[in-house]
Order: sequence, then structure tokens, then C-alpha cells
Amino acid sequence: MLPNFLMKRVQLTPDRKALQTSTVTYTFREMMQEADLRARSLYAQGVKSHMRVALRAPSTVDTYLMIQACLLLQVELVLLNRRLTREEIDYQLADAEVSRIITDDFSFFEGCAIPLISLDDIREAPAISYSTQIERDATASIMYTSGTTGFPKGVRQTYGNHTANAMASITNLGFLPTDCWLCAMPLFHISGLSIVMRSLLYGMPVYLMEKFDALKSAQLIQEGKVTIMSVVAPTLRAIIEEMEQREWQASPKFRLMLAGGGVIPESYIERANALHLPIVQTYGMTETSSQTATLSSEDSLRKLGSVGKPLFFNDLKVGASNTPYEHGEIYVRGPHVTPGYIGKFADNSPLQDGWLATGDLGYFDEEGYLYILDRRKDLIISGGENIYPAEIEKVLARHEAIVEAGVCGVPDEQWGEVPAAYIVCDSEVREEEIIQFCAQHLARYKIPKHIYFCETLPRNASNKLLRRELRAWNYSKSNM
Ligand code: ATP
Ligand code: MG
Repeated sequence: MLPNFLMKRVQLTPDRKALQTSTVTYTFREMMQEADLRARSLYAQGVKSHMRVALRAPSTVDTYLMIQACLLLQVELVLLNRRLTREEIDYQLADAEVSRIITDDFSFFEGCAIPLISLDDIREAPAISYSTQIERDATASIMYTSGTTGFPKGVRQTYGNHTANAMASITNLGFLPTDCWLCAMPLFHISGLSIVMRSLLYGMPVYLMEKFDALKSAQLIQEGKVTIMSVVAPTLRAIIEEMEQREWQASPKFRLMLAGGGVIPESYIERANALHLPIVQTYGMTETSSQTATLSSEDSLRKLGSVGKPLFFNDLKVGASNTPYEHGEIYVRGPHVTPGYIGKFADNSPLQDGWLATGDLGYFDEEGYLYILDRRKDLIISGGENIYPAEIEKVLARHEAIVEAGVCGVPDEQWGEVPAAYIVCDSEVREEEIIQFCAQHLARYKIPKHIYFCETLPRNASNKLLRRELRAWNYSKSNM
């Protein structure tokens, strides 16, 4: 059994700061009061423990407090991505068999048969009692994967999974009483929700940013008002650019930037280092309730490009033998791994003999540090050679005219498949220059055979590059 997270936290450190924005602050005691009001109101509106309730709302303080109320009441919270279309959301609601929807936007759900509850409708209601104990295997949250490689899958994240993840993280990153985690990732994504869980388990304040703001983030980092932040590649790049432009450096109080969710170009890590902004790469997924391997800060530059070692309670293997430098699929095992999917994918267990097959390819070096190559589905096989699009994208990202790049395989009569690069530039550059630049850093067969200039890259609601859309774009130079 585990304790009810918020109740236990309030018992331990009621007066510690729990949540902060540029305008408000809540201690854990105040958060409990707010969560209690909302939980009573939900109960009065028919929400009971273990009921499946969806939440679609922006990452505001109200939403944060509502998440706390749902945890207090122990509902199975289905976190909906606000950037999805109604059709995509309807699929998830049906797949998860949701009983109620909490939202700030009734118009979005027009015609929906599931009862709606307003995020702001906090009704006066009698006191209720909460269970102080929680089953480790009880579902705390359900989250759909990003759908980068195919259809989004509904992942069960138990209280045990969240606890194991937060505890594994702290054994690596440590925790200082002065820590404050900047949450600029959406709360509906595991990168955001895992910060909420760490806050409760560690007694740590969260600085909540409703929408990612690069300048504001850079300011908080420079002033030392926050000490840790989670980022993905595009947000990291934006912060670095703000700091470079203003010649700012990170405050010595700022401990680390946890960067993951997709490929992080090594050039970003080097640029960040010049700003005294320590970056640690992490590897995780919805199915592992966030981090599964993370680099430690002292290895950040020595093991540039690695996502580190499996965290304390976790185990990783690559392929069948774990032979150093041998490429293979990455498997994960540990108490942070989901017991499985729900709905349509309930029978497609991601587990094989207790190991989660990630669909990602990688390798270990001789010291046991993991490197992610790419997703198996995106691998390009050209004339019998394996090409990882991520490797080419990372090289392209180093070119000063290139803002971002996406690479995918396209059919080729001679080689079967060849790499094509789609690039977004912020200054003029000729195709030949890019080819020449690639030739300095990549073997011949990896040099993109087609370069297409475009305004933006296709990204999904989690801001992840959709290479399957790049493949489908079927660009021709004439319509550029
Ligand atoms: P779907 O499973 O529906 O295709 P998704 O895998 O993108 O979507 P998430 O759970 O949000 O959904 O993302 C996890 C994936 O992100 C990992 O499996 C991996 O492919 C990628 N990823 C995470 N961290 C890193 C990293 N540091 N480097 C490279 N890739 C990463
Ligand atoms: Mg996935």
C-alpha cells in the first residue's frame, strides 16, 4: 500500500511551498484546502473513487488544483491533450470508457453524451472522507501515447509506477531543500504530470508556466528563481537562443535541465554549456511514467549524446546480448513500467517476459551508457546499410542557417531507399552548401539525396516530429 500522496505530504510539511506562478503561491496546506473543495464538489456531481474521469484543460493553476483533487479522491484520471481534434478526443473518450469530463471549454464537447463538469464550477458540498491508503496497482492516470509511430495507445500509470519513477529520479538527480522545478511542459503529458508527482513525493515547489515562454524561462533560470526544468529539443533551443542573444548565463543556483522526449542535438548541449546551463539527457516514455535512463550531471559532457544509465530500480537491455556497440531494440524492466494498455490495445501487451519492448533502437558503450539511435519504424535501409534519420538531423541542426531538420527515407530505384531532408532555415543557404556540410560529417551513403526547404515541419500534439508525414508529403522541388 501507498499513502494518499497529498494527505501524507500535508501531514509532513504543510507549510512548504507547493505551487507558484508569477502571480500566486500555494503551500501544501493551502493546496489541500483547494483540492478538498474541488473533490467535494466533484463528489456532489457524481464522481466517485476509481471512476474514469477525463480532464481537458490548459496547464493553469486551476487545472493543477483539479488534478490534486482527482488524486485525493482517487479517480482514474484520463488526461486529454488539448491540441487534439474533437475526432481524436472522441476516440480516446470511447476507448477509455470515460464516465465524466472535466473541462474549461464546454463548446468543444458540443453534442457529447458524456456528462460534463466545469473546471470552475466549485460547488458548496458536504465534507467527505478520503482513503488514506492507496493500492500500489491502482490506476492514478491514463495517458495516450503521442501517436508518433501510429495510433495513440492508452497507457495505465499506477500509483506504484509514479512512485517508482519519482524515487528513481531522485537517486540520480538528488534533491535540495532549495529546489524548485519549472514546469512548462503540458500537464496532460507525462513530462508535466511527473513533475506534479515529484512535488508531492519530495515536498518540492513547482513553478507552473501555463504556456512555454522562452524569454520568461530564460529569465527565471538567469535569476535562479528555479533550479530544475524539463525540456524537449525545440524548447531547449528557444531558451538557448534567448540567453545567447542577451548574453545571459544561468544562475549558479540553477542545477540542471532535464532534456528528453526526442532527439537532443549534441550541439545544443555544447551551446548550453557555454551558458553554464547544465543539460542532462533523459530517455523515457508514457509507458514508463517518464524517465527510465538519465545521464548524471557530471557525465553531461564526457558522455555527450548519451541518455545515461538505467536509473536505480530499472533495468535495460539492448537486443539479446547487451554487447557494447551492438545495435538493437531497447527493452525496459522495472516498477515504473506500465502494467499495460487499456481499450483497443488492451490485448496487445507491450511486455515480453516482463520486459517492455520500446520500438526504439540503441546501443550501450563499453561503460554501460545508453545511446538512442532512432525508432525502429524510421530506420532507413539503403543499399543494405542502416541509416538512422536522427543522426543526419543532428548534423543538419549544427548548420548555422538551419533552424530545424527532419529526415526520412524515400524510395529509390538503385538503393531501395535513400535519405531525404526537410529543412527550415532562418537565412539563405544553397542546397549544395548543405550537401557539402553533410559530407564533412557523414559517410557518403548517409548524405541526403534530396533536400527540401519548408516553412515548418509536421509535428504532433506533443511537438514531436512526424516522419511518417514527411514520407507522405511527397514533395517535389517544383512546389517548394
Ligand atoms: P507512440 O508510441 O504513439 O508512437 P511516442 O512514442 O512518441 O508515441 P511518447 O511516450 O510521448 O510517445 O514518447 C516516447 C518516445 O520518445 C520514446 O519511445 C523515444 O522514441 C522518444 N524519446 C524519448 N526520449 C528520447 C531521447 N532522449 N532521445 C531520443 N528519443 C527519445
Ligand atoms: Mg511510443
